[in-house]
Amino acid sequence: MHAPDSSQLPPPPMAIPPPPPAQATLRTVRIFDTTLRDGEQCPGATLFPTEKVRIARQLDRLGVDIIEAGFPSSSQDDREAVRRIGEAVGCQVAALARCVPDDIRAAADSLSGLPEERRVLHVFLGTSVFQLQYKLRLSQAEALRLVAESVAQARSLCPHVLFSAEDAMRTDPAYLVDVLSAAVASGAQALTIPDTVGLAIPADFAPLVSFLRSRIPELASGAVGLHAHCHNDLGLATANSLAALAAGCTAVHVTVNGIGERAGNCPLEELAMALRLRPDAYPFATRLRPSELYPTSRLVSSLTAILPQPHKPVVGANAFAHEAGIHQDGLLKEPRTYQIMEPATIGRPGRAELVLGRHSGRAGFIDHLTRLGISLPPDRLQDLYASFQELAEKKRIVYDDDLLELLREHSNAVPAVYVLRSLAISAATNGTPQATVVLENDGQTFTAAAPGNGPVDAAFHAIDHISGLVGELHSFTINAVTRGHDALGEASLTVSFANHTVAAKASDTDIVTASVKAYLNALNRALAPR
Ligand code: MN
Repeated sequence: MHAPDSSQLPPPPMAIPPPPPAQATLRTVRIFDTTLRDGEQCPGATLFPTEKVRIARQLDRLGVDIIEAGFPSSSQDDREAVRRIGEAVGCQVAALARCVPDDIRAAADSLSGLPEERRVLHVFLGTSVFQLQYKLRLSQAEALRLVAESVAQARSLCPHVLFSAEDAMRTDPAYLVDVLSAAVASGAQALTIPDTVGLAIPADFAPLVSFLRSRIPELASGAVGLHAHCHNDLGLATANSLAALAAGCTAVHVTVNGIGERAGNCPLEELAMALRLRPDAYPFATRLRPSELYPTSRLVSSLTAILPQPHKPVVGANAFAHEAGIHQDGLLKEPRTYQIMEPATIGRPGRAELVLGRHSGRAGFIDHLTRLGISLPPDRLQDLYASFQELAEKKRIVYDDDLLELLREHSNAVPAVYVLRSLAISAATNGTPQATVVLENDGQTFTAAAPGNGPVDAAFHAIDHISGLVGELHSFTINAVTRGHDALGEASLTVSFANHTVAAKASDTDIVTASVKAYLNALNRALAPR
């Protein structure tokens, strides 16, 4: 065996630092973030309007071009969220509508407070055989007419209309041309070819995009934009989105941490770093600031209570962990041996140095927060410091992750209806565990005791006695969010109270307490005035 003739090959990509991109040679592509719409369709990920606004502000800081803020006809909450997000950010805001006149009016209304150039009315209709025959029960001709009418209505109410042919990747290409041409003729300025079911592969995009460009002159001239919306059912959403851009698409739809329907959408952070580290293959410019990627991921996982899996690229807990001895050895000698990006590039604190403890003073605490890029008004700082001292009493060493977790608990936007005053558990291997819970609501104290299968179950029953609502638990997990045997345990759960499903999480050095706090957060969330 001998090595191939290397003079025939291009130089291999090195990553860190990326080759300086020659701006003139880069085509600018647009990032359409749908964390707050498709992402929110993740089971249990329901967000309050105030939480949506916080995420939207962070997405704006990160530099996405368009934020899809909701589906206004679906709920009063979504109408409210779209309106408030529009006021809070500087980028374009999209609102989704079916090809239904009331949907289109609701979406247009919720955008109406914005300057014209920032409104995007996003209209969609299924166009594949599956969608038309089974879901919509429309003939191809009827659907074509409906698209033309709906886009025209949308255009009469909003200057910028995006039309998506749902399930485009499984739609007969000739019919897809008819539908997209009808949308353009009725005034759509951009079109999406969604891979709604996540069945596409990268090689599908170049032939389809060039076919569409050959048949729709507005796509070829660039007068009309072409978006890709890729789902991750085969783990190909990032690869497909990159292929779509390479094939000539002008925008891609992404979500933070890849959350979304089923297996989720194209993860924003993966796409952003692939573009940044491989400009040789993907010579595209975006407005994204990579140093905001990790803070954005943390914010979204905190508020949705959906944690990325540990080995999730770019933002997972282990994405920069090096376990094997030979890897650690190589890494110490030269980080590029095993690492294609620096944690700092994506705004991620370096591998945890131990930092604060019981004896750390206020100045050291503030100094440390500043190093993590956190600044707080004095009253909130005082509250956080008090919680930090409490934690430092229980836990010898307080890591960066502990601090971020405390901060998350403090910024919890859910109004507390019930507050935990005390929790007593009696559990033994022989005998039924009992929990006694004391809660406070509006100045009054309530006590209840209940048995259960285990201490957590018993405590949940006791809370149910007090609230008078029986929670139906759908999922429940405990993770160690920080390090050491005295790590903070984080409880995440999804629970229904009277058909209202909510997700919540909480942390504590005691996992039963963490579980009870999470359950109470969920209850408070379910009881919060809408
Ligand atoms: Mn989708």
